Amino acid sequence: MDYEPVIGLEIHAELLTQSKMFCRCPVVDLTEAPPNSAVCPVCSGMPGTLPVINQVAVEYALRVALALDCEIFTTSIFERKNYFYPDLPKGFQISQYQHPLARHGRLPIRTGQGDVVIRIRRVHLEEDTGKSIHVSGWENGDEQESSKGGSQTLPSQTLPSQTLPSQIPPQTLPYSLIDLNRSGVPLLEIVTEPDMHSAEEVGAYARALRRLLRYLDVNSGDMQKGVLRIEPNISVRPAGSEELGTRTEVKNLNSFRALERAVEYEVERQIALLEAGEPVLQETVGWDESRQVTVPQRSKEEAHDYRYFPEPDLPPLVVEPDWVEAVRAGLPERPHERMQRLMHDLGLNEYDAALLTDEKAVADYFEAVLAAGPELDPKSAANWIGGELFGLINQAGLSIEEQHVSPARLAALLQLLEDGAVNQTSAKKVLAEMFASGKDAPSIVAAQGLDQVSDREAIESWVVQVLADHPEELGEYLEGKQAIANWLFGQVMRRAGGRANPRVVRDALERRLAELRSGG
Ligand code: ADP
Ligand code: ZN
Ligand code: MG
Repeated sequence: MDYEPVIGLEIHAELLTQSKMFCRCPVVDLTEAPPNSAVCPVCSGMPGTLPVINQVAVEYALRVALALDCEIFTTSIFERKNYFYPDLPKGFQISQYQHPLARHGRLPIRTGQGDVVIRIRRVHLEEDTGKSIHVSGWENGDEQESSKGGSQTLPSQTLPSQTLPSQIPPQTLPYSLIDLNRSGVPLLEIVTEPDMHSAEEVGAYARALRRLLRYLDVNSGDMQKGVLRIEPNISVRPAGSEELGTRTEVKNLNSFRALERAVEYEVERQIALLEAGEPVLQETVGWDESRQVTVPQRSKEEAHDYRYFPEPDLPPLVVEPDWVEAVRAGLPERPHERMQRLMHDLGLNEYDAALLTDEKAVADYFEAVLAAGPELDPKSAANWIGGELFGLINQAGLSIEEQHVSPARLAALLQLLEDGAVNQTSAKKVLAEMFASGKDAPSIVAAQGLDQVSDREAIESWVVQVLADHPEELGEYLEGKQAIANWLFGQVMRRAGGRANPRVVRDALERRLAELRSGG
Protein backbone atom coordinates (compact mmCIF):
# COMPACT_ATOMS: atom_id res chain seq x y z
CA MET A 1 0.00 0.00 0.00
CA ASP A 2 1.07 3.59 -0.58
CA TYR A 3 1.24 5.90 2.42
CA GLU A 4 1.17 9.67 2.65
CA PRO A 5 3.18 11.37 5.39
CA VAL A 6 1.37 14.22 7.18
CA ILE A 7 3.40 16.68 9.22
CA GLY A 8 2.65 19.79 11.28
CA LEU A 9 5.31 21.87 13.00
CA GLU A 10 5.54 23.67 16.30
CA ILE A 11 8.43 26.13 16.35
CA HIS A 12 9.64 27.95 19.45
CA ALA A 13 11.56 31.15 18.75
CA GLU A 14 13.28 33.16 21.45
CA LEU A 15 12.63 36.86 20.88
CA LEU A 16 15.60 39.23 20.66
CA THR A 17 14.36 41.62 23.32
CA GLN A 18 16.68 43.35 25.78
CA SER A 19 14.80 42.07 28.80
CA LYS A 20 12.79 39.02 29.75
CA MET A 21 9.06 38.43 29.20
CA PHE A 22 7.77 39.31 32.65
CA CYS A 23 10.69 40.93 34.54
CA ARG A 24 13.54 43.37 33.93
CA CYS A 25 16.34 40.79 33.81
CA PRO A 26 18.45 41.09 30.68
CA VAL A 27 18.30 38.40 28.01
CA VAL A 28 21.86 37.04 27.90
CA ASP A 29 23.79 34.61 25.73
CA LEU A 30 23.75 31.31 27.62
CA THR A 31 27.09 30.31 26.19
CA GLU A 32 28.77 33.46 27.51
CA ALA A 33 27.08 34.68 30.68
CA PRO A 34 27.97 32.94 33.96
CA PRO A 35 25.12 30.62 35.03
CA ASN A 36 22.34 32.27 37.05
CA SER A 37 23.77 35.76 36.56
CA ALA A 38 20.61 37.19 34.95
CA VAL A 39 18.01 36.11 37.45
CA CYS A 40 15.61 37.91 39.81
CA PRO A 41 12.81 36.87 42.19
CA VAL A 42 10.24 36.96 39.34
CA CYS A 43 12.01 34.66 36.89
CA SER A 44 13.30 32.36 39.63
CA GLY A 45 9.70 31.81 40.75
CA MET A 46 9.78 33.31 44.23
CA PRO A 47 6.37 33.46 45.90
CA GLY A 48 4.75 36.85 46.15
CA THR A 49 6.34 38.30 42.99
CA LEU A 50 4.30 39.76 40.16
CA PRO A 51 4.92 39.46 36.41
CA VAL A 52 4.69 42.50 34.11
CA ILE A 53 4.23 42.06 30.34
CA ASN A 54 7.17 43.14 28.17
CA GLN A 55 5.73 45.48 25.54
CA VAL A 56 8.59 45.00 23.10
CA ALA A 57 8.04 41.24 23.17
CA VAL A 58 4.40 41.82 22.25
CA GLU A 59 5.46 44.11 19.42
CA TYR A 60 7.89 41.49 18.08
CA ALA A 61 5.19 38.85 18.29
CA LEU A 62 2.86 41.16 16.35
CA ARG A 63 5.51 41.64 13.67
CA VAL A 64 5.75 37.90 13.17
CA ALA A 65 2.01 37.34 13.25
CA LEU A 66 1.39 40.14 10.75
CA ALA A 67 4.20 38.98 8.45
CA LEU A 68 2.51 35.57 8.49
CA ASP A 69 -0.78 37.21 7.45
CA CYS A 70 -2.45 36.15 10.69
CA GLU A 71 -5.66 37.41 12.14
CA ILE A 72 -4.76 39.32 15.34
CA PHE A 73 -6.99 39.17 18.40
CA THR A 74 -7.39 42.52 20.11
CA THR A 75 -7.62 40.66 23.40
CA SER A 76 -5.62 37.58 24.27
CA ILE A 77 -5.16 35.82 27.58
CA PHE A 78 -2.11 34.52 29.38
CA GLU A 79 -2.67 31.20 31.11
CA ARG A 80 -0.74 29.00 33.48
CA LYS A 81 0.44 25.71 32.02
CA ASN A 82 1.12 23.60 35.07
CA TYR A 83 3.73 20.89 35.18
CA PHE A 84 6.68 19.98 37.31
CA TYR A 85 10.19 20.04 36.05
CA PRO A 86 13.36 21.25 37.80
CA ASP A 87 14.06 23.87 35.13
CA LEU A 88 10.64 25.42 35.73
CA PRO A 89 10.94 27.12 39.12
CA LYS A 90 7.32 28.35 39.41
CA GLY A 91 5.88 24.91 38.66
CA PHE A 92 4.02 26.44 35.75
CA GLN A 93 4.84 28.24 32.55
CA ILE A 94 2.97 31.38 31.57
CA SER A 95 1.68 30.72 28.07
CA GLN A 96 -1.38 31.37 25.93
CA TYR A 97 -3.82 28.61 25.25
CA GLN A 98 -7.50 29.23 24.59
CA HIS A 99 -7.06 32.81 23.46
CA PRO A 100 -3.76 33.19 21.60
CA LEU A 101 -2.46 36.46 20.19
CA ALA A 102 -3.05 35.43 16.58
CA ARG A 103 -4.29 32.65 14.31
CA HIS A 104 -4.99 31.64 10.72
CA GLY A 105 -1.86 32.79 8.94
CA ARG A 106 0.12 31.51 6.00
CA LEU A 107 3.70 31.16 4.82
CA PRO A 108 4.47 30.48 1.15
CA ILE A 109 7.41 28.14 0.57
CA ARG A 110 9.28 26.89 -2.49
CA THR A 111 10.26 23.28 -3.01
CA GLY A 112 11.49 21.22 -5.92
CA GLN A 113 7.83 20.45 -6.62
CA GLY A 114 6.90 24.12 -6.86
CA ASP A 115 5.26 26.70 -4.62
CA VAL A 116 3.10 25.66 -1.67
CA VAL A 117 1.38 27.64 1.06
CA ILE A 118 1.66 26.30 4.59
CA ARG A 119 -1.19 27.41 6.81
CA ILE A 120 -0.37 28.76 10.26
CA ARG A 121 -2.75 27.59 12.98
CA ARG A 122 -1.73 29.94 15.76
CA VAL A 123 0.96 32.25 17.08
CA HIS A 124 1.23 32.81 20.79
CA LEU A 125 3.54 34.27 23.43
CA GLU A 126 5.02 32.45 26.38
CA GLU A 127 8.15 32.32 28.49
CA ASP A 128 11.13 30.01 28.16
CA THR A 129 12.23 27.63 30.89
CA GLY A 130 15.62 27.40 32.55
CA LYS A 131 18.22 25.00 31.31
CA SER A 132 19.33 21.83 33.06
CA ILE A 133 22.75 20.39 32.60
CA HIS A 134 23.09 16.75 33.56
CA VAL A 135 26.59 15.77 34.47
CA SER A 136 27.87 12.28 33.66
CA GLY A 137 26.35 8.90 34.27
CA TRP A 138 23.08 9.23 32.44
CA GLU A 139 23.12 7.67 29.05
CA ASN A 140 20.08 8.51 27.13
CA GLY A 141 17.91 8.56 30.22
CA ASP A 142 14.59 10.35 30.52
CA GLU A 143 16.31 12.88 32.69
CA GLN A 144 18.27 14.13 29.76
CA GLU A 145 15.42 14.61 27.36
CA SER A 146 12.32 15.39 29.31
CA SER A 147 13.26 19.03 29.75
CA LYS A 148 10.72 21.17 27.95
CA GLY A 149 13.22 23.60 26.62
CA GLY A 150 15.96 21.11 25.87
CA SER A 151 18.81 20.28 28.15
CA GLN A 152 22.30 19.10 27.86
CA THR A 153 24.17 16.08 29.17
CA LEU A 154 27.86 16.51 29.72
CA PRO A 155 30.49 14.12 30.92
CA SER A 156 31.82 15.80 34.05
CA GLN A 157 35.27 16.50 32.62
CA THR A 158 33.85 18.72 29.90
CA LEU A 159 32.13 21.07 32.30
CA PRO A 160 33.88 24.42 32.65
CA SER A 161 35.43 24.26 36.11
CA GLN A 162 34.02 27.60 37.26
CA THR A 163 30.48 26.26 36.94
CA LEU A 164 31.17 23.52 39.50
CA PRO A 165 30.34 24.54 43.04
CA SER A 166 33.35 23.74 45.20
CA GLN A 167 31.42 21.54 47.59
CA ILE A 168 30.49 19.02 44.90
CA PRO A 169 32.35 15.80 45.71
CA PRO A 170 34.52 13.94 43.23
CA GLN A 171 32.62 12.14 40.52
CA THR A 172 30.89 9.27 42.19
CA LEU A 173 27.27 10.12 41.42
CA PRO A 174 25.64 11.85 38.52
CA TYR A 175 24.10 15.21 39.35
CA SER A 176 22.33 18.07 37.62
CA LEU A 177 22.89 21.78 37.43
CA ILE A 178 20.23 24.37 36.70
CA ASP A 179 20.89 27.65 34.89
CA LEU A 180 17.94 30.05 35.19
CA ASN A 181 19.37 32.68 32.83
CA ARG A 182 16.94 31.43 30.16
CA SER A 183 14.00 31.24 32.56
CA GLY A 184 11.47 33.87 31.49
CA VAL A 185 13.05 34.74 28.13
CA PRO A 186 10.24 35.71 25.72
CA LEU A 187 9.30 32.81 23.52
CA LEU A 188 7.06 32.84 20.49
CA GLU A 189 5.34 29.63 19.50
CA ILE A 190 4.30 29.28 15.87
CA VAL A 191 2.14 26.26 15.05
CA THR A 192 1.22 25.11 11.55
CA GLU A 193 -1.70 23.10 10.26
CA PRO A 194 -0.72 19.53 9.29
CA ASP A 195 0.03 20.73 5.75
CA MET A 196 3.42 19.20 5.00
CA HIS A 197 3.96 15.85 3.34
CA SER A 198 7.70 15.28 3.05
CA ALA A 199 10.97 15.97 4.82
CA GLU A 200 11.80 18.34 1.98
CA GLU A 201 8.69 20.45 2.61
CA VAL A 202 9.35 20.47 6.33
CA GLY A 203 12.93 21.64 5.72
CA ALA A 204 11.75 24.33 3.30
CA TYR A 205 9.14 25.61 5.76
CA ALA A 206 11.56 25.72 8.68
CA ARG A 207 14.17 27.55 6.61
CA ALA A 208 11.59 30.03 5.28
CA LEU A 209 10.38 30.75 8.80
CA ARG A 210 13.90 31.24 10.12
CA ARG A 211 14.64 33.60 7.24
CA LEU A 212 11.46 35.58 7.96
CA LEU A 213 12.24 35.87 11.68
CA ARG A 214 15.68 37.19 10.82
CA TYR A 215 14.23 39.70 8.33
CA LEU A 216 11.95 40.93 11.08
CA ASP A 217 14.91 41.31 13.47
CA VAL A 218 13.13 39.33 16.17
CA ASN A 219 15.31 36.21 16.32
CA SER A 220 19.00 35.63 15.54
CA GLY A 221 18.35 32.28 13.86
CA ASP A 222 21.40 30.95 15.66
CA MET A 223 20.22 27.36 15.80
CA GLN A 224 23.29 26.02 17.58
CA LYS A 225 22.47 28.26 20.50
CA GLY A 226 18.98 26.81 20.66
CA VAL A 227 17.13 30.06 19.95
CA LEU A 228 14.96 28.28 17.38
CA ARG A 229 13.64 24.87 18.35
CA ILE A 230 11.55 22.75 16.06
CA GLU A 231 9.06 20.04 16.95
CA PRO A 232 7.55 18.10 14.07
CA ASN A 233 4.33 16.16 14.61
CA ILE A 234 4.34 13.24 12.22
CA SER A 235 1.76 10.71 11.08
CA VAL A 236 1.18 8.61 7.99
CA ARG A 237 -2.07 7.54 6.34
CA PRO A 238 -3.05 5.43 3.35
CA ALA A 239 -2.64 7.54 0.22
CA GLY A 240 -5.96 9.12 -0.71
CA SER A 241 -7.36 8.97 2.82
CA GLU A 242 -8.62 12.19 4.38
CA GLU A 243 -8.37 11.04 7.97
CA LEU A 244 -5.32 11.85 10.03
CA GLY A 245 -3.27 8.97 11.37
CA THR A 246 -1.93 8.74 14.92
CA ARG A 247 0.99 11.10 15.35
CA THR A 248 4.24 11.19 17.20
CA GLU A 249 5.96 14.40 18.20
CA VAL A 250 9.74 14.81 18.04
CA LYS A 251 10.98 17.24 20.70
CA ASN A 252 13.39 20.12 20.41
CA LEU A 253 15.30 19.73 17.18
CA ASN A 254 17.81 22.48 16.62
CA SER A 255 19.22 21.83 13.18
CA PHE A 256 17.54 21.52 9.80
CA ARG A 257 19.45 18.35 9.11
CA ALA A 258 18.27 16.71 12.32
CA LEU A 259 14.73 17.87 11.47
CA GLU A 260 14.78 16.32 8.02
CA ARG A 261 16.43 13.12 9.19
CA ALA A 262 14.04 12.73 12.13
CA VAL A 263 11.02 13.19 9.84
CA GLU A 264 12.32 10.64 7.34
CA TYR A 265 13.06 8.20 10.13
CA GLU A 266 9.65 8.53 11.80
CA VAL A 267 7.80 8.21 8.49
CA GLU A 268 9.64 4.99 7.69
CA ARG A 269 9.18 3.64 11.20
CA GLN A 270 5.44 4.34 11.20
CA ILE A 271 4.91 2.83 7.74
CA ALA A 272 6.77 -0.31 8.84
CA LEU A 273 4.50 -0.58 11.91
CA LEU A 274 1.32 -0.22 9.88
CA GLU A 275 2.56 -2.72 7.29
CA ALA A 276 3.17 -5.18 10.11
CA GLY A 277 -0.38 -4.60 11.34
CA GLU A 278 0.76 -2.87 14.51
CA PRO A 279 -0.56 0.45 15.79
CA VAL A 280 1.44 3.67 15.96
CA LEU A 281 1.41 4.87 19.58
CA GLN A 282 0.77 8.54 20.19
CA GLU A 283 3.91 9.56 22.00
CA THR A 284 6.64 12.10 22.38
CA VAL A 285 10.00 10.99 21.07
CA GLY A 286 13.52 12.40 21.08
CA TRP A 287 16.09 12.40 18.31
CA ASP A 288 19.29 10.54 19.06
CA GLU A 289 21.83 12.35 16.93
CA SER A 290 24.62 9.82 17.33
CA ARG A 291 22.48 6.82 16.38
CA GLN A 292 20.24 8.73 13.95
CA VAL A 293 17.09 7.21 15.43
CA THR A 294 14.12 8.44 17.44
CA VAL A 295 13.71 7.16 21.00
CA PRO A 296 10.44 7.13 22.97
CA GLN A 297 10.32 9.61 25.86
CA ARG A 298 6.83 9.61 27.26
CA SER A 299 3.31 8.95 26.16
CA LYS A 300 1.67 12.05 24.78
CA GLU A 301 0.28 14.41 27.39
CA GLU A 302 -3.13 15.94 26.79
CA ALA A 303 -4.06 19.54 27.32
CA HIS A 304 -6.03 18.68 30.47
CA ASP A 305 -2.87 17.24 32.02
CA TYR A 306 -1.61 20.81 32.23
CA ARG A 307 -4.64 22.17 34.07
CA TYR A 308 -4.54 25.43 32.14
CA PHE A 309 -6.22 28.39 33.80
CA PRO A 310 -5.98 32.15 33.24
CA GLU A 311 -2.95 33.74 34.92
CA PRO A 312 -4.51 35.66 37.80
CA ASP A 313 -1.54 38.02 38.12
CA LEU A 314 -1.82 39.41 34.58
CA PRO A 315 -4.60 41.39 32.93
CA PRO A 316 -5.84 40.31 29.50
CA LEU A 317 -3.39 41.42 26.82
CA VAL A 318 -5.05 44.13 24.74
CA VAL A 319 -3.42 45.22 21.48
CA GLU A 320 -5.18 48.32 20.21
CA PRO A 321 -5.94 48.26 16.46
CA ASP A 322 -3.97 51.52 16.00
CA TRP A 323 -0.89 49.89 17.42
CA VAL A 324 -1.34 46.82 15.24
CA GLU A 325 -1.61 49.03 12.15
CA ALA A 326 1.50 50.96 13.14
CA VAL A 327 3.43 47.71 13.49
CA ARG A 328 2.10 46.52 10.14
CA ALA A 329 3.18 49.75 8.47
CA GLY A 330 6.70 49.27 9.81
CA LEU A 331 7.17 45.76 8.42
CA PRO A 332 9.96 45.24 5.88
CA GLU A 333 9.27 43.66 2.51
CA ARG A 334 9.01 39.93 3.16
CA PRO A 335 11.77 37.69 1.81
CA HIS A 336 9.59 35.65 -0.54
CA GLU A 337 8.13 38.83 -2.02
CA ARG A 338 11.53 40.38 -2.34
CA MET A 339 12.81 37.30 -4.13
CA GLN A 340 9.90 37.43 -6.59
CA ARG A 341 10.53 41.10 -7.22
CA LEU A 342 14.23 40.56 -7.94
CA MET A 343 13.27 37.87 -10.44
CA HIS A 344 10.45 39.72 -12.14
CA ASP A 345 11.62 43.31 -12.06
CA LEU A 346 15.36 42.83 -12.35
CA GLY A 347 15.50 39.64 -14.39
CA LEU A 348 17.58 37.64 -11.89
CA ASN A 349 17.38 33.88 -12.10
CA GLU A 350 15.94 31.91 -9.20
CA TYR A 351 19.33 30.85 -7.88
CA ASP A 352 20.70 34.40 -7.68
CA ALA A 353 17.46 35.83 -6.31
CA ALA A 354 17.40 33.18 -3.57
CA LEU A 355 21.06 33.73 -2.72
CA LEU A 356 20.66 37.50 -2.45
CA THR A 357 17.45 37.45 -0.42
CA ASP A 358 18.47 34.78 2.06
CA GLU A 359 19.61 37.53 4.41
CA LYS A 360 18.04 40.95 4.55
CA ALA A 361 21.42 42.67 4.91
CA VAL A 362 22.64 41.08 1.67
CA ALA A 363 19.47 42.02 -0.22
CA ASP A 364 19.76 45.57 1.13
CA TYR A 365 23.39 45.69 0.03
CA PHE A 366 22.56 44.47 -3.46
CA GLU A 367 19.81 47.03 -3.91
CA ALA A 368 22.03 49.79 -2.54
CA VAL A 369 24.65 48.92 -5.19
CA LEU A 370 22.01 49.27 -7.91
CA ALA A 371 20.78 52.52 -6.39
CA ALA A 372 24.33 53.91 -6.46
CA GLY A 373 24.89 52.64 -10.01
CA PRO A 374 21.57 52.91 -11.82
CA GLU A 375 23.23 52.05 -15.15
CA LEU A 376 24.65 48.77 -13.88
CA ASP A 377 23.42 45.44 -15.15
CA PRO A 378 21.64 43.82 -12.16
CA LYS A 379 22.76 40.33 -13.19
CA SER A 380 26.39 41.34 -13.29
CA ALA A 381 26.06 43.08 -9.90
CA ALA A 382 24.43 39.92 -8.53
CA ASN A 383 27.29 37.80 -9.85
CA TRP A 384 29.93 40.04 -8.35
CA ILE A 385 28.25 40.03 -4.94
CA GLY A 386 27.39 36.32 -4.93
CA GLY A 387 30.77 35.35 -6.39
CA GLU A 388 33.79 37.56 -5.69
CA LEU A 389 32.50 39.52 -2.70
CA PHE A 390 31.02 36.48 -0.91
CA GLY A 391 34.30 34.67 -1.58
CA LEU A 392 36.27 37.42 0.17
CA ILE A 393 33.74 37.70 2.98
CA ASN A 394 33.72 33.97 3.67
CA GLN A 395 37.47 33.75 3.56
CA ALA A 396 37.75 36.58 6.07
CA GLY A 397 34.94 35.16 8.22
CA LEU A 398 33.05 38.46 8.16
CA SER A 399 29.42 39.35 7.56
CA ILE A 400 28.27 41.72 4.83
CA GLU A 401 27.75 44.43 7.46
CA GLU A 402 31.23 44.01 8.89
CA GLN A 403 33.21 44.25 5.65
CA HIS A 404 34.49 47.59 4.28
CA VAL A 405 33.41 47.75 0.64
CA SER A 406 30.44 50.08 0.70
CA PRO A 407 27.68 49.61 -1.90
CA ALA A 408 28.64 52.92 -3.53
CA ARG A 409 32.26 51.82 -3.88
CA LEU A 410 31.34 48.47 -5.38
CA ALA A 411 29.02 50.29 -7.78
CA ALA A 412 31.89 52.58 -8.81
CA LEU A 413 34.13 49.57 -9.53
CA LEU A 414 31.44 47.82 -11.56
CA GLN A 415 30.89 51.02 -13.50
CA LEU A 416 34.61 51.13 -14.40
CA LEU A 417 34.24 47.54 -15.59
CA GLU A 418 31.14 48.26 -17.61
CA ASP A 419 32.78 51.33 -19.18
CA GLY A 420 35.73 49.20 -20.23
CA ALA A 421 38.14 51.19 -18.05
CA VAL A 422 39.31 47.99 -16.33
CA ASN A 423 38.94 44.41 -17.45
CA GLN A 424 37.48 41.49 -15.54
CA THR A 425 40.81 40.20 -14.22
CA SER A 426 41.92 43.61 -13.01
CA ALA A 427 38.52 44.30 -11.45
CA LYS A 428 38.90 41.17 -9.32
CA LYS A 429 42.31 42.36 -8.14
CA VAL A 430 40.91 45.80 -7.40
CA LEU A 431 38.02 44.36 -5.40
CA ALA A 432 40.37 42.21 -3.32
CA GLU A 433 42.46 45.32 -2.62
CA MET A 434 39.36 47.39 -1.78
CA PHE A 435 38.29 44.65 0.58
CA ALA A 436 41.67 44.47 2.29
CA SER A 437 42.58 48.16 2.43
CA GLY A 438 39.26 50.00 2.43
CA LYS A 439 40.50 52.19 -0.46
CA ASP A 440 38.26 53.06 -3.39
CA ALA A 441 38.49 51.62 -6.90
CA PRO A 442 39.81 54.63 -8.86
CA SER A 443 42.75 55.17 -6.51
CA ILE A 444 43.71 51.48 -6.59
CA VAL A 445 43.45 51.39 -10.39
CA ALA A 446 45.65 54.48 -10.65
CA ALA A 447 48.21 53.32 -8.07
CA GLN A 448 48.60 49.86 -9.59
CA GLY A 449 48.31 50.89 -13.23
CA LEU A 450 45.40 48.50 -13.73
CA ASP A 451 43.47 50.64 -16.16
CA GLN A 452 42.60 48.65 -19.19
CA VAL A 453 44.38 49.21 -22.47
CA SER A 454 41.94 49.41 -25.36
CA ASP A 455 44.35 51.28 -27.59
CA ARG A 456 44.33 49.37 -30.87
CA GLU A 457 47.83 50.27 -31.95
CA ALA A 458 49.42 49.13 -28.72
CA ILE A 459 47.48 45.89 -28.80
CA GLU A 460 48.28 45.22 -32.45
CA SER A 461 51.96 45.65 -31.77
CA TRP A 462 51.76 43.11 -28.91
CA VAL A 463 50.07 40.68 -31.29
CA VAL A 464 52.84 41.09 -33.85
CA GLN A 465 55.52 40.59 -31.19
CA VAL A 466 53.90 37.47 -29.76
CA LEU A 467 53.53 35.88 -33.20
CA ALA A 468 57.15 36.69 -33.97
CA ASP A 469 58.29 35.14 -30.65
CA HIS A 470 56.40 31.87 -31.26
CA PRO A 471 56.97 30.79 -34.86
CA GLU A 472 56.49 27.08 -34.05
CA GLU A 473 53.08 27.51 -32.49
CA LEU A 474 52.09 29.85 -35.28
CA GLY A 475 53.12 27.19 -37.78
CA GLU A 476 50.98 24.56 -36.03
CA TYR A 477 48.06 26.93 -36.07
CA LEU A 478 48.44 27.61 -39.77
CA GLU A 479 48.54 23.83 -40.39
CA GLY A 480 45.05 23.64 -38.90
CA LYS A 481 45.40 23.37 -35.10
CA GLN A 482 42.62 25.80 -34.22
CA ALA A 483 43.06 25.47 -30.47
CA ILE A 484 46.44 27.21 -30.63
CA ALA A 485 44.57 30.48 -31.20
CA ASN A 486 43.44 30.49 -27.57
CA TRP A 487 46.95 29.87 -26.36
CA LEU A 488 48.21 32.76 -28.49
CA PHE A 489 45.45 34.95 -27.05
CA GLY A 490 46.70 34.09 -23.55
CA GLN A 491 50.24 35.05 -24.56
CA VAL A 492 49.12 38.45 -25.80
CA MET A 493 47.19 39.08 -22.58
CA ARG A 494 50.31 38.15 -20.65
CA ARG A 495 52.43 40.48 -22.68
CA ALA A 496 49.90 43.20 -21.82
CA GLY A 497 50.27 42.50 -18.12
CA GLY A 498 46.63 41.34 -17.98
CA ARG A 499 45.41 44.87 -18.61
CA ALA A 500 44.39 44.69 -22.24
CA ASN A 501 40.77 44.80 -23.26
CA PRO A 502 40.15 41.15 -24.16
CA ARG A 503 37.68 41.99 -26.90
CA VAL A 504 40.15 44.24 -28.67
CA VAL A 505 42.88 41.61 -28.28
CA ARG A 506 40.69 38.90 -29.76
CA ASP A 507 39.75 41.12 -32.72
CA ALA A 508 43.33 42.12 -33.42
CA LEU A 509 44.60 38.55 -33.10
CA GLU A 510 41.89 37.11 -35.31
CA ARG A 511 42.48 39.73 -37.94
CA ARG A 512 46.24 39.13 -38.00
CA LEU A 513 45.83 35.33 -38.13
CA ALA A 514 43.33 35.64 -40.97
CA GLU A 515 45.81 37.76 -42.89
CA LEU A 516 48.52 35.15 -42.35
CA ARG A 517 46.21 32.30 -43.41
CA SER A 518 45.43 34.06 -46.65
CA GLY A 519 49.16 34.52 -47.19
CA GLY A 520 49.43 38.11 -45.92
P1 ADP B 1 -0.35 19.79 20.87
O1 ADP B 1 0.82 19.06 20.27
O2 ADP B 1 0.10 20.82 21.83
O3 ADP B 1 -1.39 18.87 21.38
P2 ADP B 1 -1.95 20.39 18.49
O4 ADP B 1 -2.84 19.26 18.68
O5 ADP B 1 -2.54 21.70 18.17
O6 ADP B 1 -1.03 20.68 19.74
O7 ADP B 1 -0.96 20.01 17.33
C1 ADP B 1 0.32 20.45 17.26
C2 ADP B 1 0.84 20.23 15.87
O8 ADP B 1 0.62 18.91 15.43
C3 ADP B 1 0.21 21.11 14.83
O9 ADP B 1 1.24 21.60 14.01
C4 ADP B 1 -0.69 20.19 14.05
O10 ADP B 1 -0.78 20.61 12.72
C5 ADP B 1 0.04 18.90 14.15
N1 ADP B 1 -0.82 17.71 14.09
C6 ADP B 1 -1.93 17.48 14.79
N2 ADP B 1 -2.43 16.25 14.49
C7 ADP B 1 -1.58 15.70 13.58
C8 ADP B 1 -1.53 14.44 12.90
N3 ADP B 1 -2.43 13.50 13.10
N4 ADP B 1 -0.50 14.24 12.04
C9 ADP B 1 0.43 15.17 11.85
N5 ADP B 1 0.44 16.36 12.46
C10 ADP B 1 -0.54 16.62 13.32
ZN1 ZN C 1 14.07 38.14 36.23
MG1 MG D 1 2.74 19.58 20.71
